[in-house]
Amino acid sequence: MEYRALGKTGLQVSKLGFGASPFGSAVDEHSEREAIQAVHMAIDLGVNFIDVSPYYGVTRAETVLGKALQNIPRESYYLSTKVGRYGAAAFDFSEQCVAVSIDESLKRLHVDYVDVILCHDVEFGSLDQIINETIPALRRIQEAGKARFIGISGLPLKIFRAVTEQTDLDLILSYCHYCLNDTALAGLVPYFNQKQIGIINASPFSMGLLTESGPPVWHPASDELKTCCAAAARYCRNQGVSIAQLALQYSLAQSDFATTLVGIANSEQITTNVGWMHEPLDPELLREVQSILEPIRNQSWPSGKPENNDTAGV
Ligand code: NAD
Repeated sequence: MEYRALGKTGLQVSKLGFGASPFGSAVDEHSEREAIQAVHMAIDLGVNFIDVSPYYGVTRAETVLGKALQNIPRESYYLSTKVGRYGAAAFDFSEQCVAVSIDESLKRLHVDYVDVILCHDVEFGSLDQIINETIPALRRIQEAGKARFIGISGLPLKIFRAVTEQTDLDLILSYCHYCLNDTALAGLVPYFNQKQIGIINASPFSMGLLTESGPPVWHPASDELKTCCAAAARYCRNQGVSIAQLALQYSLAQSDFATTLVGIANSEQITTNVGWMHEPLDPELLREVQSILEPIRNQSWPSGKPENNDTAGV
């Protein structure tokens, strides 16, 4: 496993990170067991960064992850969770909520502290409140020793500049903006590097768009984007390769991101992904797939308040 520096935090994180959002759907004994095994397998394979949120499965993901972490030495992984988002339309970025939220997360996760606390999907809030109330509340959590580093997450790239220009964040988490069909996040790398802000890149499969089975029904992409990704997946299949393999290798090859978070539901997925990580990327296949995806390159979808959106990218 290759480890990379996460901004100026001093953390050396595995370039492949573990996204535990699929644990939100681990609602029966079998899927819970699978999820727990996946965490143990990932740590054995050298993955040391795990991301979760109280939002995933309305606290279910944190509860399942907490069970998985119970018998693992605390120093063998870095843990990230979030505050502020609790349902599809349930947000509370207030100081009072954030203070209660972290304590509840620590209890569910069976840990005394998290390494990273993120304000989850800030585009749904007022950026004024995020800057003047939520981020200072995160710093107080840090001062209390409950989190080591703080940051924000969200979809529209516009939010990152807006918030980091007025605050002093350790890191950011961006998703669906550095994958085969969308590389808009690359445009912000010089800015983040200059500010020494660590970059966590999430969703190399663009939340399922770049997989054999395709996106879930709730996926917010346009029909045009879904159709184009399905055509690229078909092309890869005809070449005897899963588009997911190319997608993962492509995102991991960008060394400016400390880690790329992949959503993992079971140990088979983590084993497959670590295996793909060690195989070389096929440059010819990449060129073909990029030309199929060219018509929808960097096309995104709106998320959160209209004023926080800029689907055109940076
Ligand atoms: P993703 O692009 O990583 O896709 C995950 C999906 O791919 C899951 O359904 C998973 O079961 C499947 N998968 C995993 N390995 C596979 C393989 N080898 N072949 C085929 N399918 C495979 O999207 P994601 O899960 O949304 O993102 C990754 C993580 O990043 C999340 O779990 C979460 O921790 C984080 N994230 C955070 C935010 C935020 O803070 N706003 C948003 C998105 C993601």
